[in-house]
Amino acid sequence: MEKNILKEASLKSTKKRNIILKIVSESNSPVTAEYIHEKSEIKMSLSTVYRALNVLCEKNIIEKNIHQNGIAYFSMANKVHRHSIICTLCNKRILLESCPIASLENEISQKTGCIITGHNLEFFGICPECIKNMGNIL
Ligand SMILES: [Zn+2]
Ligand SMILES: [Zn+2]
Repeated sequence: MEKNILKEASLKSTKKRNIILKIVSESNSPVTAEYIHEKSEIKMSLSTVYRALNVLCEKNIIEKNIHQNGIAYFSMANKVHRHSIICTLCNKRILLESCPIASLENEISQKTGCIITGHNLEFFGICPECIKNMGNIL
């Protein structure tokens, strides 16, 4: 399966890339480069992991999200879902960097005994531009 992903992106299927893809795709949550480095069954340097991750990100196979603590987390791009804020004045859609309620899924799952397979969440608000325009009118 990993081989096909690489082939479709016209990337050479290397052992290192396949190992990285396997680790990222088998993880339930986004992982750091350090985590991949530790989990890898073959020896590769942290900089090799980073280089491979960058290539995979460029091809949109893996997605990188920088968390507030400044650490980059990597996840399979096809697994990533986006949430957005819709401006009620101009209908602009502002995408959120990451899922704000991913951790809630565990809690809900425990409370209800259900396996949570996904969710839908949209925010409504007023975008910075519209706020600025409102200020001009007032
Ligand atoms: Zn707006
Ligand atoms: Zn979400």
